[in-house]
Amino acid sequence: MRVRFDRFYTYSELTELLSGWAEEFPTLLFVSSIGLSYEGREIPIATLTNAETGLPEEKPAVFVHAQVHAMEFTGTTAALHLLDHLLHSGDPRVRLARDTRTFYVVPRVNPDGAEAGLADGRFRRSSVRPYPREEPQDGLHRADIDGDGRVLFMRLRDPNGPWKLHPEDARLLVPRAPDDLEGDFYRVFPEGTIRNWDGVTVPIAPALEGLDLNRNWPFDWAPEAEQHGAGPYPTSEPEVRALVQAIVDRPNIGTYVGYHTFSGVHLRPYSGRSDESFPNHDLRAYELMGREATKITGYPAISIFHDFKYDPKLVIRGGDVDWVYDILGAFAWVTEFWSPQRQAGLEGYHAIEWLREHSPEDELAVLRLADELGEGYVDWYPFEHPQLGAVELGGWDLVRFWFNPPPSRLEEEVRPHADLAVFFALCSPLLQITSCESEQIGDDVHRVRVVLENAGWLPTNVTQKALERDAVRPIEVSLELPEAARVVTGKEHEEAGQLQGRVEDRQVTWWGVDHSTKNRTKVEWVVAAPPGTRIGAVARHERAGTARAELTV
Ligand SMILES: [Zn+2]
Repeated sequence: MRVRFDRFYTYSELTELLSGWAEEFPTLLFVSSIGLSYEGREIPIATLTNAETGLPEEKPAVFVHAQVHAMEFTGTTAALHLLDHLLHSGDPRVRLARDTRTFYVVPRVNPDGAEAGLADGRFRRSSVRPYPREEPQDGLHRADIDGDGRVLFMRLRDPNGPWKLHPEDARLLVPRAPDDLEGDFYRVFPEGTIRNWDGVTVPIAPALEGLDLNRNWPFDWAPEAEQHGAGPYPTSEPEVRALVQAIVDRPNIGTYVGYHTFSGVHLRPYSGRSDESFPNHDLRAYELMGREATKITGYPAISIFHDFKYDPKLVIRGGDVDWVYDILGAFAWVTEFWSPQRQAGLEGYHAIEWLREHSPEDELAVLRLADELGEGYVDWYPFEHPQLGAVELGGWDLVRFWFNPPPSRLEEEVRPHADLAVFFALCSPLLQITSCESEQIGDDVHRVRVVLENAGWLPTNVTQKALERDAVRPIEVSLELPEAARVVTGKEHEEAGQLQGRVEDRQVTWWGVDHSTKNRTKVEWVVAAPPGTRIGAVARHERAGTARAELTV
């Protein structure tokens, strides 16, 4: 079975695909559940690694999840495509990643919101649990009022309307200038009906489903008044609680990626702090990984705090990446798939500011793209609204064009991101036993020496922050001895600290480079054992993996 790009998956199609793969590739993919959604759906997690080369928990891991936000279907497609690629690709880098690393993929964190959104096309931010109020409020509620499966906009002529026709294409509406005194002016509402209308004013009702599951994380969380949708307390929502638990239950995770839409950017922490807050090593590693990410996907890699604030004076609170990075000390990323602006040929725009304000020329350029793709903008058509009377329906199809690429562009949009996930996996530390030898130093007495190396790019601790937070344990090396043998000198479980990676080695001539064998260490024991005894050595590090070796004295 291969992933499909011609449509977005329903929950049952998604679970069928996963279980089909688990059957087809029993040594590569294993499906389990991280918990139940609000409506009681299992939230599946796929664990992908070559079982013949070791257990998943004994390899460094990349954790990917998608569709925390209900209408961001592209993320799920990308997560499934990642699994598809890892299962089917014969690329030596993919084979190496499969053999030596683990991928945990949660293709749809919020199955309830996605299922509801697929069914009626109505925008929901996240889960379907009513919040902060149980009952719908008075005012206009978005809905597909003409039953065409789309929730668009309604426009009606109004001499005091804030919009006017675009001078070059009358399908578009642009802001009316202060001195635009004559002409056709319009008022615009989201498509929907008005609950308890007074016949005059049209308040826009807050969505009944007001939660934002990416504001419900246990870091810098803030209540409703300060951060909409954050929930009553951190991890109050079952989907977030399940995700947080799934992550802490897998201490081998060194890199974390959340798949979202839209903007065509890679986002990194912090959400709420400037880059000054980073330990230098971590910021440099982030920048280097970000540069490579841009090479692979074409998306700029930017800081949420510096470059992706929805409002210059407001920071996002209670989000995932700050918790993953700052508390666990793992590298955390958000991928925002798809930029209609970039596709339309625009350059040098600010991902968020552009949405707030841009020129009529830019608007027209994006409309041209929608025309070329054959979907995304619906020309206005008359409709008799049950309350407002004669209106026109039409305008941007946000869900099908802005929040997700149309199916014709879906595959090319998500494809490079599987390569990026493989790159992230290959960045991780990788503990190896490079030699395991003994030397006889007396009758039935031997010195056993185990040499360990970190063959990966990142240090075994992954981040500096992990050390600061005491979030990662040192390497532990143990001997496995049969009955007849015993340790004379040394501990059965020796700690071997952390090993550096290559990440800081950027220029041979830079005097700050540490040219020592910083990625290598040794552990020695004196062991009493009769000749011919088999001795095993095991080196474990939660983030760098487990390595085993054997020798005969
Ligand atoms: Zn999102």
